[in-house]
Amino acid sequence: MELPNSSLIELVYLAAGILFILSLKWMSSPGTARRGVWAGEIGMLLAVCGTLLHHGIVDFRWIAVGLVLGSIIGARLGQVQMTAVPQRTALSHAFGALCVTLVGTAEFYLRSPDISRFMMAVISLEVILGSLTFTGSLMAAGKLQEILPQRPITYKGQNFVNLALLAIAVGAAVVLVLNPGLTYLFPLILALGLTFGVFMVTPIGGADMPTVISLLNSYAGLSAAAMGFVLDNKLLIVAGALDGSSGFILSVIMSKAMNRSFTNVLFGAFGQVQAAAAAAGEAKPVRSATAEEAASILSAASKVVIIPGYGMAVAQAQHKVRELYDILVKQGVDVSFAIHPVAGRMPGHMNVLLAEADIPYDRLLDMEEVNPEFPQTDVALVIGANDVTNPAARTDPSSAIYGMPILDVDSARMVMVVKRGMSPGFAGIDNPLYYMGKTLMLFGDAKSFVGGIIRELSGGGHQ
Ligand code: NDP
Repeated sequence: MELPNSSLIELVYLAAGILFILSLKWMSSPGTARRGVWAGEIGMLLAVCGTLLHHGIVDFRWIAVGLVLGSIIGARLGQVQMTAVPQRTALSHAFGALCVTLVGTAEFYLRSPDISRFMMAVISLEVILGSLTFTGSLMAAGKLQEILPQRPITYKGQNFVNLALLAIAVGAAVVLVLNPGLTYLFPLILALGLTFGVFMVTPIGGADMPTVISLLNSYAGLSAAAMGFVLDNKLLIVAGALDGSSGFILSVIMSKAMNRSFTNVLFGAFGQVQAAAAAAGEAKPVRSATAEEAASILSAASKVVIIPGYGMAVAQAQHKVRELYDILVKQGVDVSFAIHPVAGRMPGHMNVLLAEADIPYDRLLDMEEVNPEFPQTDVALVIGANDVTNPAARTDPSSAIYGMPILDVDSARMVMVVKRGMSPGFAGIDNPLYYMGKTLMLFGDAKSFVGGIIRELSGGGHQ
């Protein structure tokens, strides 16, 4: 009876593991991303069903309560605004990490003191990673939701204190592995892990939080893989390893796009100098234009590149942008979109919004692809983007974003920028693009200003 049941579970787990791998592969391109989400969801359903077949389950009542509660919370979490997805993701990591920590703690006390050294090492790793990810993710979510101060909070010797906390936790774990009888060390390890999570995120500014979240994602994956060893569950090992490595790769990609090293993100306290830098560039004159003027410039152009950014997301202007795209294409204008890897507030933010508005994928150009096109572009239309177009990243070694790869919008023949005023972007710094002779500022909310351009173009326009 037991053998066929366990073989069936292994088979279900194998199918789930394959679906997780396919899901990651498909999610790497906008064209196949929806299929990737489905594959991941079906894989997770199979994983849950496979686990419910486990012969060790003696009572389903608590499981049923958990399923109902989890589904209600999950459905609520799924309804947040797109701009709140980073903090929502952080909360999911916190839940996963809490689960891993609780399972590790339960296994420790259930098995103690008859625990092999290998198992003790794995449980310690699971609990350290799980506990620091739990509190670290809660801190990250709090900072992004602005419940906690976004600014980095630093003090002298902070990095030393943080590393010492981690070192004591790891040291205590090593002693516990060598002397499994010293069970009083376990709560100490747990407490140090929880404290380290809080201290680790405190000095990191809000702008770096998405990178931190993807790093915490990686830790959550590794701790889940460790839990897989503890529970002898191969699917958890596979899924944890996939989660751990993909989270790590994403953190590397994001750090590169912001020209930051990991150590700089984790220890650099980026964001401290932002307010002072932002105040510097307020009084300089800019040229502005109306929707009517912008419409006539656009319809006279033969090649237009649209650069979407965080402001388009906040204004939910993607559908208006789609209408503008349709009208211009109908008028024979060549229109494409320039996508910076960290435009918006989460990886793939612009791709998701533009896909939602059904803009053809082949019109979305990556930074490397589009930058050589700007000198031949008549109008670069920036909609709610700021930092990712800032030429100071190329030209001003004193700039906080110096070295960050940017979209070379300033080499287009003409630049038009839709934004509400002269406020800086997330990096908190002034943008010299706005003061160039070829730049026209289109002041207003992205959705209503683009709506105004559309009205001008469709109400008689010209040509
Ligand atoms: P920015 O944050 O640089 O700028 C957004 C601009 O949008 C602001 O200057 C704001 O100006 C304008 N804006 C806000 N609301 C509206 C509105 N309703 N209508 C029109 N404009 C509006 O955005 P970018 O996309 O250019 O750059 C992203 C930044 O976020 C980079 O610094 C990046 O490093 C950082 N980041 C991105 C991550 C990612 O994964 N994508 C992760 C971590 C950080 P105003 O208030 O005057 O309207």
